[in-house]
Amino acid sequence: AALYRSKQDGRNIYSYYSLERHERIAAHRSLAEEMRRGISVGEFFLEYQPRYETNSRAIRSVEALVRWAHPERGRISPADFIPLAERSGLIVPLGEWILRTACQTVAPLDGIGVSVNVSPVQFRDDDLVAIVASALAESGLAGSRLELEITEGVLMEDAERARGIIGELKALGVKLAMDDFGTGYSSMSYLCDFPFDVIKIDRKFIADIEGSGGGRAVVQAILGLGRSLGLSVTAEGVETNGQLALLARDQCREVQGYLLARPMPEDRLRDLVAGAAEAEDEPDARDIAAA
Ligand code: C2E
Ligand code: MG
Ligand code: MG
Ligand code: MG
Repeated sequence: AALYRSKQDGRNIYSYYSLERHERIAAHRSLAEEMRRGISVGEFFLEYQPRYETNSRAIRSVEALVRWAHPERGRISPADFIPLAERSGLIVPLGEWILRTACQTVAPLDGIGVSVNVSPVQFRDDDLVAIVASALAESGLAGSRLELEITEGVLMEDAERARGIIGELKALGVKLAMDDFGTGYSSMSYLCDFPFDVIKIDRKFIADIEGSGGGRAVVQAILGLGRSLGLSVTAEGVETNGQLALLARDQCREVQGYLLARPMPEDRLRDLVAGAAEAEDEPDARDIAAA
């Protein structure tokens, strides 16, 4: 028994020291290396936030948003790790996984499209078009159900290269959205110069819409621009009923935000979509349940 105990103690001491050593190394290891490890062991996953038709409240599509569940640090925000993934180049393999996973998850959801954020660094990679084509082919998702959300950063780097790639992507049938519209320097000129289908109004303008600071005027101007250019406009970051009411009055056709739904894991998305389809089939199911 004594021998057993000392052996066990020995093992405990050994594992204590090795853990401490591990932590020391981990502290020095860059977050980029942590990301590489996290990708290989499957710590990244996607959530999906529905985009609703303003008047019918029908879900037309969902935006895929990447998440990182770090074993020690907990959930790390994409606002923190995407810039790092871009600097280290890891956004290329991560972005490929995001595209393939989003297409596979949404393909079985009848009538629902998916939008995926694409980084400027992914546009530098020669394989982007081939990856999108194969994500569509493997999932069976029609190109018209995939929308790529880009910011003006994609177009600023090398506009002519971006133009070529966007042309090839559009030949696959995919749609193109200008994300965070209004926050950049030249999004207005890019809007006319590239074949965008959708404008996403940055949530900073939606947050100001009820105030006296002219936020609503800016949103109305963007909606007018969308109408004249024949583009669909989505309002991001809708958080209050007041904002939703003003957007409906100003004829903003599509809304996205915490008021309607937060980003959710894929099983909850499937339940939500199945529930919505059921409610459409049986219009008074809810009244019966309430009675
Ligand atoms: P984004 O593409 O503009 O995404 C919208 C962000 O607003 C998401 O934050 C979403 O959770 C958040 N949001 C949605 N509704 C509301 C609301 O009502 N109020 C507030 N306050 N926020 C709302 P998230 O998921 O933290 O992502 C932040 C940014 O990180 C994204 O901004 C996008 O630029 C980037 N990102 C996220 N996922 C990906 C991805 O898969 N690939 C790439 N390249 N970038 C991504
Ligand atoms: Mg986006
Ligand atoms: Mg945005
Ligand atoms: Mg953004």
